[in-house]
Amino acid sequence: MLSDKDRIFTNLYGIHDWHLPGARARGDWDGTADILARGRDAIIEEMKASGLRGRGGAGFPTGLKWSFMPKQSDGRPSYLVVNADESEPGTCKDRDIIRHDPHKLVEGCLIASFAMGAHKAFIYIRGEYYNEYLNLQTAVDEAREAGLIGPNASGSGWDFDITIHRGGGAYICGEESALLESLEGKKGMPRMKPPFPAAMGVYGCPTTVNNVESIATVSTIMRRGAAWFVGLGRPKNSGTKLYCISGHVNKPCTVEDELGIPMRELIERHAGGVRGGWDNLLAVIPGGSSVPMIPKSVCDNALMDFDSLREAGSSLGTAAVIVMDKSTDLIRAIARISAFYKHESCGQCTPCREGTGWVMRMMNRMVEGRAEYAEIDLMEQVTRQLEGHTICMLADAAAWPVQGLLRHFRPMVEQRITDYKARTAPRIAAE
Ligand code: NAD
Ligand code: SF4
Repeated sequence: MLSDKDRIFTNLYGIHDWHLPGARARGDWDGTADILARGRDAIIEEMKASGLRGRGGAGFPTGLKWSFMPKQSDGRPSYLVVNADESEPGTCKDRDIIRHDPHKLVEGCLIASFAMGAHKAFIYIRGEYYNEYLNLQTAVDEAREAGLIGPNASGSGWDFDITIHRGGGAYICGEESALLESLEGKKGMPRMKPPFPAAMGVYGCPTTVNNVESIATVSTIMRRGAAWFVGLGRPKNSGTKLYCISGHVNKPCTVEDELGIPMRELIERHAGGVRGGWDNLLAVIPGGSSVPMIPKSVCDNALMDFDSLREAGSSLGTAAVIVMDKSTDLIRAIARISAFYKHESCGQCTPCREGTGWVMRMMNRMVEGRAEYAEIDLMEQVTRQLEGHTICMLADAAAWPVQGLLRHFRPMVEQRITDYKARTAPRIAAE
């Protein structure tokens, strides 16, 4: 069980003062100049040794990503861009960091930017997070007024500043290259990769895009050391993680615990258990709407980390744990997710633009059972055409929830068709 002394986010519930004096009292901004004095390479090596994997969903190693930034400037400035466009359904962890612990993010921006040779960071925050934006702007202003950022940041000799940019409400702008387009003032449409942002990011300059939780974790790792972080979690899945537990639980919450905690323990210890008890569980989407659901039989032994959930046929994603009990109409739930992706597709790839609509329309008919049995296979084939054939992963994200439904609950879909046929057959015959 994670002890309080190992918690990174000590003000997750906003019990304490989030302003600079409160943050300082909890240890933030303590000896920041000493951390920077260790040098760029030492910071990157410490981050690599910690094994921190990106907390935005993909789990790419953070220290490795920083090491892709050029060591010597070729005349172009380098940038850190923090992805705070948290839009994945079920996910609200970055929101809690920003509104209750914004100085962790601001200090992390300074350390990360210094390590990658950037004098400037942009934080791209979801437009709907207006109150969070106000807190974050206040924290940035407080840090600047106190000399923690700005010229000679924290007395380190490094000039550094932060600009906050508010998004306009498009899910696709959370995809890193669409975010960069949007930041540049263009339509938020994903770019082809490679080149990755480290080679050509915002304004054509070397850029690292990191998630809020990743960056807000940096200062604690640097203070407590990589070995402490590696001591938490599981091999190759080190550290603690924020989980957002929602749906049919008794006490929905965002909570910090170790990576690799058993799913059942996570839900029962922190979220008051499944409504009606564990045996009333039907399925869980363990990492936000983009990842496949898993049935109770898999949940029974599932561990909440990147590698374990991949082996279980799903993904940790954003660690947004959406719990569905036996009262759930799973077909309707997935149809709703299909409609979401259809709506959020930017439309520039044909398989995604056409396929998300096609899948949504088929799923809507499956909800009623108004389909032929053979259409189940057809729908599966359409999702296979979405997967891996487009510029960004939105199309994959639209395909996987449907594939998860068919993999684990195909008899439920068939039964819905059978019931519809039984209901309508006499009427059709009479007509
Ligand atoms: P990705 O695997 O393509 O990339 C992950 C990161 O690693 C990116 O920053 C990418 O630039 C970098 N990277 C990957 N390969 C690289 C290479 N060879 N060289 C240099 N850099 C490399 O995944 P993604 O599209 O960034 O993220 C997908 C995930 O995002 C999904 O799994 C989903 O869980 C999550 N997601 C999160 C939200 C949210 O609100 N936080 C919303 C939607 C999706
Ligand atoms: Fe746009 Fe979809 Fe292509 Fe992504 S996959 S770039 S959202 S059309």
